[in-house]
Amino acid sequence: METPREVIDRALNRETADRIPAALIGAGTWSAREYGVSFKQMSTDSSLMARMITEMADRLKSDIVYVGSGYPNFPVAALGCAINYRDVGTPDLEGTLVHAESDLTGLDLSRISSDPVLSTIRQAYGVVSKALGNYAVTLTAWGPFTLGARLVGEEAMMKALYKNPGLVKSVTEFAVSMLKLFYEPLLSPGLLDLILLGEPTASGDLISRKQFEQFVLPQLQDFISWAAGKGARTILHICGNTTDRLDLYPRTGVHCISLDHKTDMVRAKEILHGTICFAGNVDPVNVLLRGTVQDVEDACRNVIEKVGTRGGFILMPGCDIPPGVPYENIHAFMRVAREWAV
Ligand SMILES: [Zn+2]
Repeated sequence: METPREVIDRALNRETADRIPAALIGAGTWSAREYGVSFKQMSTDSSLMARMITEMADRLKSDIVYVGSGYPNFPVAALGCAINYRDVGTPDLEGTLVHAESDLTGLDLSRISSDPVLSTIRQAYGVVSKALGNYAVTLTAWGPFTLGARLVGEEAMMKALYKNPGLVKSVTEFAVSMLKLFYEPLLSPGLLDLILLGEPTASGDLISRKQFEQFVLPQLQDFISWAAGKGARTILHICGNTTDRLDLYPRTGVHCISLDHKTDMVRAKEILHGTICFAGNVDPVNVLLRGTVQDVEDACRNVIEKVGTRGGFILMPGCDIPPGVPYENIHAFMRVAREWAV
């Protein structure tokens, strides 16, 4: 039987594995709540963070294990933005750092390398990747567009797409520099070979195909080719219905695109199969949170049958799972993939 890592390698190489690869996306919020720790406690304790992720990996059985899930706002916090920890859920940013392009010059990028929380996350990655050698362990962050939007504020970013495209270009390029500094200490010594970038703000429900092409694609190309040059493959997750731009994904350089439940998977297979790996797209709320075990099994079988039996496919939820998802539903999700005879 192939290990989770081997199964994911096969999928990323667009080959058939001896079973269907299956993984969650992030799952940091779900895991922290289930384990009974807060993001605040783990933010200064890399062994606690590593222990939580390692022990939850045994329970979740996701072929991909995510370090950094729940912490994607921290590169912005490192530059001086206040963080608001909550009882349950991802820590939020309070306020914004950038109102005009000129504000970028006042931000000290070297703080990405020295920030204690970001260092804790990188240390936890080192421990987890050693402890879980059989899994595909990844370090996750926001992609450049979402990270840039965190610098200026979501609403301001959406307005700037029309009124100040220069600002959008500058903050997303700046975000690429932030990401490179965040990943650099692990990439250069060859300690990391898989990255997941999440782009909720580049959702198909928020920006058009044309805006994606103009404001998201170039920055993804820059980061992903840089990371590939250092031996890391990238999985990209984009929220919302992106059926109208599926053909743009191979141009980003990604090794896998993770698609939301609103995206048409049959079209995705037509366009992407044989070109890049694609993943998705079981509805995280209506099926995984609110559905029965039977509903989960039916939804998983449905997507596998439709698009997943020819390799180059990973069964995933359409987005990160909410913290209230019943464990039996996650278990059922993984079981369908594991028991699928290929
Ligand atoms: Zn999503």
